[in-house]
Amino acid sequence: MTDKQIRVRFAPSPTGPLHIGGVRTALYNYLFAKHHGGTFILRIEDTDQTRYVEGAEEYIMDALDWAGIKVDEGIREGGPFSPYRQSDRKEIYHEYANELISKGDAYYAFDTPGELEKLRQEHEARGETFNYGCLTRSGMCNSLTLPADEVKRRLSSGEGYVIRYRMPADEEISFSDLIRGDIVVNTSTLDDKVLYKSDGMPTYHLANIVDDHLMEISHVIRGEEWLPSLPLHVMLYRSLGWEAPLFAHLPLLLKPTGKGKLSKRDGDKMGFPVFPLYWPYGETATGYREEGYFPDAFVNMLALLGWNPGTDQEIFSMEELVAAFTIERVGKSGSRFDPEKAKWFNNRYFQMKSDEELATLFMPLVVEKGFHPGEETLRRIVSLVKERASFVKDLWHEADFFFVAPESYDRDVIKKRWNDDSPMLMRELRDVIAGEQQFTSEALEKRVKEWIAAGSYNTGMILNLFRLLMVGASRGPHLFDIVELTGREETLRRLDDGIRRLSSVAS
Ligand code: GLU
Repeated sequence: MTDKQIRVRFAPSPTGPLHIGGVRTALYNYLFAKHHGGTFILRIEDTDQTRYVEGAEEYIMDALDWAGIKVDEGIREGGPFSPYRQSDRKEIYHEYANELISKGDAYYAFDTPGELEKLRQEHEARGETFNYGCLTRSGMCNSLTLPADEVKRRLSSGEGYVIRYRMPADEEISFSDLIRGDIVVNTSTLDDKVLYKSDGMPTYHLANIVDDHLMEISHVIRGEEWLPSLPLHVMLYRSLGWEAPLFAHLPLLLKPTGKGKLSKRDGDKMGFPVFPLYWPYGETATGYREEGYFPDAFVNMLALLGWNPGTDQEIFSMEELVAAFTIERVGKSGSRFDPEKAKWFNNRYFQMKSDEELATLFMPLVVEKGFHPGEETLRRIVSLVKERASFVKDLWHEADFFFVAPESYDRDVIKKRWNDDSPMLMRELRDVIAGEQQFTSEALEKRVKEWIAAGSYNTGMILNLFRLLMVGASRGPHLFDIVELTGREETLRRLDDGIRRLSSVAS
C-alpha cells in the first residue's frame, strides 16, 4: 500500500457530547493520516435514531475544529464519497443486506421484542445468557425455520422483521490487530447480530463496514470497546467478498485512580473536564475550552495518553506530533488520565506564549472588570506575574492589585510588622515617593533605599509595610515594579488610606 492511499475515518455516533477519549481517537486517526500524507474523514454514524441527541453532531465538529484536528472529508467539508452522515446514506445499505441473504449468510427473523425478552429472562432465571445464534436459531421464528411462502407472506404483509447475520458454527477465524497482534476466535462464541431493521435502517455493524468499504478506508483506528465487534466485521467482509481494512484498537483511557474506564460522569464528580467544549444541553458539563485550556496544550496532553514517542520529549506541536506518530508506539494497556498533568501541559504552553499574546488574551477579562489599561501597561503587568499562572484566568488573581486598591490588610502581616512607629515611617515614605520626579521602578527603589539607609531603618520592615499598603498582603512581584505601574497618584492614595485605616486599627 502506498502512502497516498491511506484513508482513515473517525466515526462517532451523535449520542451526546464527545468525551476526551473520543477526541483522542480522532487525534490518533488524524496524526496517522497526516504522518502518511493520507486523508482524514469524519463520518457521522447516526443509524440508531433512538440514541440520537440534538446538538451532538455540531458539537463533534466544533470540538475537532477547536482542537485543530482538520477534517479532509466530512459533512461540512464535502468530499468524493458524500454524504458523510449515515442517515443520509440509508438507501445504500439495503442492497448489501439482501446480498448477504441471497448468499445464505444472513436471514430474516420475525421474533418479537416481547418474545426475545421473555427468553432472556427465562435464561437469566437459570443463571444463563440467551444468545441468538447457531445453537438456538433453529428454535426461533425466522426464515430458516418457517416455510418459504410463510416468510414471503410475512415480509409482504409489512410485519416487523430484522435481518440477522448467520454466524457459522465452530469455525476458527483469525485476524490481526496492529496494536493487539494476532487474535483467534471460535465463531460458536459469537451470536447472530442484527444487521438491518424493517424500519429501513441498518445497524451499526452493517453500516460501518459498508461505509468503510465504499469510502475506501485503509485503516480502522478506534477504541478498544469495539474489539468484540471485530470478529463479526471480519466475517462480514469475508461474506461480501471485500478486502478488510487493517485494524488498530486503542487502549482505554482510565480514571485518575487507575481503576476503570474514564466515564462521562467522572469529570463533574472529580472536578475536571472530560469534554473538550462546554455541553449546554440537558446535563450541562464544562469543557477544556471554557476552563481556559489552550487547544495545543490539550492536544499535546491527549497525544501522550496512550502513545509514547520513545524519548523524553513531552512538548510537541501538532506538526511534531504528525512527524513522530506511529501506531507501533501506541501501548496495549490503558492510560491513566491525570488532571494535574493536564494543568501542567497548559502551564508549559502558557509560559511559552509571549507577553504580548497573553496580554491580548487577558485584556477582555480586565475590561470586563471595568478597567482599561493601555496595551503596553498590560503587557508589562503580564510579564511581571505570568510565571505564577497557568491559565489566562489566573492572571487576574495574580494582578488584581495593579487595578484595585486593597480592601483589607493581611492580619498576620499587621501583627508582625505594624507598630507604633509605623504611621510615622509610612508618612515619611509617602513624602519620599511624592518627591521622586522620575517615577520608575529603579529610581524609586534607589531613592527609598537611600532614605532607609540614611535613617538606619530596617529594610525588611519598611518594604513589607509598603507592600502591605500597596497590595494588602505579602504577595506579588517586585514591589517597585508594582509602584511604578500603579502610578504616582494611586500609590500616594494607597499610602494615605493605609496609614489612616491601620492607625485606627492599631490604636
Ligand atoms: N459509531 C461508532 C462509535 O460511536 C464507531 C466505531 C468505529 O469506529 O467503528 O464509536
